[in-house]
Amino acid sequence: MTDCVFCKIIAGEIPSTKVYEDERFLAFRDLSPVASTHVLIVPKQHIESVAVLTPEKEAEGLSGIFCVARAIAEAEGIREDGFRLVVNTGQHGGQTVPHFHLHVIGGKELGWPPFAN
Ligand code: 5GP
Ligand code: ZN
Repeated sequence: MTDCVFCKIIAGEIPSTKVYEDERFLAFRDLSPVASTHVLIVPKQHIESVAVLTPEKEAEGLSGIFCVARAIAEAEGIREDGFRLVVNTGQHGGQTVPHFHLHVIGGKELGWPPFAN
């Protein structure tokens, strides 16, 4: 996707602070962090959101993403205290970038429920 900001980050056309990369996923620090750890894990394959997910896309593009999250939590030193994984989906879900991403957020006790309004 040529006009997708996360595809551009994956392609190296937009700079980012990378924390993890393998053949399927890239993880980098969020531009506007909400906690001391705020990392985004994105599949290198452009998948718009969970709203258009199919079993094939999940198998090819997303399987293994939770183990990547665990490895990042370990590397960030937040695995034992706990952390939050968030997948905003669509307009009502607050998704602002239409390329699937898993937020890994931690480093403090997080409030619940997460509604801001
Ligand atoms: P969403 O609201 O779609 O769940 O999350 C998108 C996230 O991407 C936001 O937290 C936002 O700060 C982050 N973001 C948007 N553009 C960029 C960018 O160019 N670089 C980085 N590192 N993060 C971005
Ligand atoms: Zn994309």
